[in-house]
Amino acid sequence: MSDMRIFDPHIHMTSRTTDDYEAMYTAGVRAVVEPAFWLGQPRTSPDTFADYFDSLLGWEPYRASQFGIRHHCTIALNPKEAGDPRCRPVLDLVPRYLAKDGVVAVGEVGYDSMTPDEDEVFAVQLEMARDVGLPVLVHTPHRDKAAGTRRSLDVVRESGLPPERVLIDHLNEPTVAMVKESGCWMGFSVYPDTKMDEDRMVRILKEYGTERMLVNSAADWGRSDPLKTRRVGEAMLAAGFTEVDVDTVLWDNPVAFYGQSGRLDLAETEPAAFYAGNTIKRGG
Ligand SMILES: [Zn+2]
Repeated sequence: MSDMRIFDPHIHMTSRTTDDYEAMYTAGVRAVVEPAFWLGQPRTSPDTFADYFDSLLGWEPYRASQFGIRHHCTIALNPKEAGDPRCRPVLDLVPRYLAKDGVVAVGEVGYDSMTPDEDEVFAVQLEMARDVGLPVLVHTPHRDKAAGTRRSLDVVRESGLPPERVLIDHLNEPTVAMVKESGCWMGFSVYPDTKMDEDRMVRILKEYGTERMLVNSAADWGRSDPLKTRRVGEAMLAAGFTEVDVDTVLWDNPVAFYGQSGRLDLAETEPAAFYAGNTIKRGG
């Protein structure tokens, strides 16, 4: 099997183990983007978001670096918590974080249940992205995906953001064509048993090509597999795609999309021995 270099453009490493980091490195993963999102349990104050955002910019990149993987993040108030009045003040925190070096996009933003609260939080954060010149990662809802994706594209269009700065994620067969037509980037989350698998992904790539296509594992605290990016690469080769095609989808495309932030740092450097006086060796 050929060597593959892989950039997972959407993975929640905070929920994963060091075994995952080791397996990802062995599979060829050299860079990841970790979007700020929902933790599975509602948060009760903006302060816990601040600590979470800080960990996405501090401890987690340090942890990734110990395994030879570059880690960047995206920052936003996620759609799932956008309707919770306790979380609304997070919107006052977000601009401060968007100014930081490790932040390569605004996200995940978008819709969960398509409520008026979600509308407002989505639009406000698109405005922030426009103001600071960052790309945007848009989550599409799991229920009613076609309607949610169409509405997301409308909101993006109204925001005046150039489509090439927007990635619409968690797409499937019914939603890919409208996103391709919009000029936005297309993201696909490949899961063990729902939404999208590697064979369907290959069929989509055959039909729509590799341009503006991103594949991620979206691995998190639920049943998921951080090696799904590699599996897609293997399925592409088995289906007759070239190594260059695989490299386009698994490396060049995420680099081009997040590179628009001007903050992507993919240089291989010696990892720091400590983070804030601590190590992954526990007090070592
Ligand atoms: Zn996610």
